Amino acid sequence: MKVSEILASPGKPFASLEIVPPLKGITKDELLDSIRPFARFKPPFINVTCHRDEYEYRSRPDGSFTRHIVSRRVSETAVCAAIQQEFDVEVVPHLICAGNTAEDVESRIKDFKFLGIENIMALRGDSLLGEKRFCPQPGGYRYASELIEAIRSSEVRYFCVGVGAYPEKHFEAPNMETDIANLKRKVDAGADFIITQMFFDNSVFYDFCDRCRAAGINVPILPGLKPLSTWRQVEMLPESFSIDIPQDLVKELSLHRDDREACYRVGLEWCSAQCSDLLAHGVRAVHFYTMGRPDNVAEILEKYF
Ligand code: FAD
Repeated sequence: MKVSEILASPGKPFASLEIVPPLKGITKDELLDSIRPFARFKPPFINVTCHRDEYEYRSRPDGSFTRHIVSRRVSETAVCAAIQQEFDVEVVPHLICAGNTAEDVESRIKDFKFLGIENIMALRGDSLLGEKRFCPQPGGYRYASELIEAIRSSEVRYFCVGVGAYPEKHFEAPNMETDIANLKRKVDAGADFIITQMFFDNSVFYDFCDRCRAAGINVPILPGLKPLSTWRQVEMLPESFSIDIPQDLVKELSLHRDDREACYRVGLEWCSAQCSDLLAHGVRAVHFYTMGRPDNVAEILEKYF
């Protein structure tokens, strides 16, 4: 079933999830066991992120280096196939421009169709470590909008396509207006729904939705939430995702820097309050970034879904 059909069908609000494929070496059973805590909440769909290959430089006895391509994680296609087999849930593999030629993209699309997958999350991906700006693969796509056009020209309306959006602006965009105009390009290219980057202040999300609607973006916008659980995340997430963490939350967590249990509770309560407020504002679906940590998300699902 397509995500757009799920979102359009009447019913209670629901939670969807995003999981990151495990590092290679883990077994299928271990992967499925990490998803099992969510099964009883019956999320209608689970997104599976994809990760571009990385370069690794290995030294040789003569002092020179050789460059190797390394894919550290199990592919999104393999993870989707495993989830589909085990659980009654739609899967939404992510597909990125980064590191892929047009032929690579076409091949992935065909694999998704072979598996009966009806949804794709179309994203650009990011530069490699050390690259100053995003460089598409020769013969690949520069923007997510071009990737959507490729999906549409390959399969017209077979796939329901989701895209990413940034309530606090994408870090490369010169301003919010331009970023929203570029988001509109993705919708005009055929995107059916939008999932936002994580945010910790709901007023930022509501304001973003108003600006999108004013710009003529009329597809569903799903808020993305992530419960913080460690002080380390306060130090890392703003840089990794170009997001802001409200001062009240930072202050609260800073009181418990070395107390993991207390940090976990503070992050959980903040995210629970966000979730409750979104539902009170009539949001139909809340998307949770699990990032390999099922316990705190499962606690929130238990409370609200
Ligand atoms: P685009 O929509 O292509 O936008 C990138 C930048 O270019 C923006 O600044 C935009 O304003 C600008 N732009 C867009 N179109 C044009 C145009 N025509 N002309 C000029 N400028 C333009 N990354 C992964 O590697 N794997 C994942 O699985 C993954 N999942 C994600 C899921 C979600 C929900 C989100 C929000 C992000 C995810 N990302 C993932 C991260 C994403 O790939 C990066 O944030 C990336 O930098 C931008 O991707 P995008 O699809 O939003 O790009």
